Amino acid sequence: MHPNTRAIRTRVTQTDEMEHTTPLFLTSSFCFDTAEEMRAAFADETDDNIYSRFSNPNVQEFTDKMVALEGAEAGYSTASGMSAVFGSFMALMKSGDHLLSCRALFGSTHNIITKYLSRFGIEFSYVDASASIAEWEKNIRPNTRMIYVESPTNPGLEIIDLKALADLAHRRDIILNVDNCFATPFGQLPIALGADLVVHSATKWLDGQGRVLGGVIVGKKELINEIYLFCRNTGPALSPFNAWILSKSLETLDVRMERHASNATWIAGQLKDHKKISSLKYPFLPSHPQFEIAKKQMQHGGGIFCFEINGGLDAGKKFLDSLELLSMTANLGDTRSIASHPASTTHAKLTEEERQAVAITPGLIRISVGLEHREDILKDILQALDGL
Ligand SMILES: *Cc1c(COP(=O)(O)O)cnc(C)c1O
Repeated sequence: MHPNTRAIRTRVTQTDEMEHTTPLFLTSSFCFDTAEEMRAAFADETDDNIYSRFSNPNVQEFTDKMVALEGAEAGYSTASGMSAVFGSFMALMKSGDHLLSCRALFGSTHNIITKYLSRFGIEFSYVDASASIAEWEKNIRPNTRMIYVESPTNPGLEIIDLKALADLAHRRDIILNVDNCFATPFGQLPIALGADLVVHSATKWLDGQGRVLGGVIVGKKELINEIYLFCRNTGPALSPFNAWILSKSLETLDVRMERHASNATWIAGQLKDHKKISSLKYPFLPSHPQFEIAKKQMQHGGGIFCFEINGGLDAGKKFLDSLELLSMTANLGDTRSIASHPASTTHAKLTEEERQAVAITPGLIRISVGLEHREDILKDILQALDGL
């Protein structure tokens, strides 16, 4: 079956009520008929549900769909993208290990790596997302256990050659863990390119309607099993309600991403030579520095583009204040288009130098392109630029 068919048809076994869509299993625990069945479940001799911190039918359905879409062996879903990222680090690294990561990262991931891993004796170092594979190799240490990357990165949209990085990681017996939030499985398949693990914030495109938080980790069975045991004991379980929402969302992910990407491609093309903009980045525009890699490993350029407006920080804030249709909000990957100004918000705590190192310039604007009509989105951006 094709991935979009799997995303629609994978489901919890129908109950005796013969319902067409999956019901919501709002229950903390599950019953057993006999003491022997309960013993066997606790001994992992069966895969019966025990307790919703371990497993739940709605959560399993969402996980199964993501496993199918990403072409993975197994998966585990979590309460948020950050618990997926944190779980994938803590379950697989120990004191004395080293994490090698791209420098441009989602803010909270950067905070976990720089503020918390060291408390557990886990070392880290950063490589620029635009670095060559030779540069990545130079930064590998004898104790490097995991390479962690986002591609495209947030918000600079840098692209990393995932196949080349996976080949390097495997030559050196290192786990490659990829945050596939920006591309989604309909935009890019890191596991087919060689990644061992894929993490997601399901809060973004997977939900796609700005309603619930969620996360998921998929990949090699033996790695997922370690992550499952870590999460089962520490408790970042996805709520059945959120899983039910997210599972329904996956049924429309393919068509939504197609439209997000075609809207973004068209709008980015219309804006790229605007006189108030000094540069515009979108993975599928030939002017993108890693356009060739993007074309090679991505099915489409995704729903995000960013541009630098003339006039820096003040112009960036004024641009946001002038928008009438686009939302000013901390999310991305919604049916509603969203504009954000990283230098004054998500990345305001970084020093100017740190921002420069991850391609966040003072006038950088990130647009998450929604599903409104593309001409209405463009019109709003143009009138806000005109006011500068
Ligand atoms: C939002 C985001 C996360 C964190 O996900 P939450 O669901 O907000 O916890 C991680 N990585 C990327 C790239 C994100 O955009």
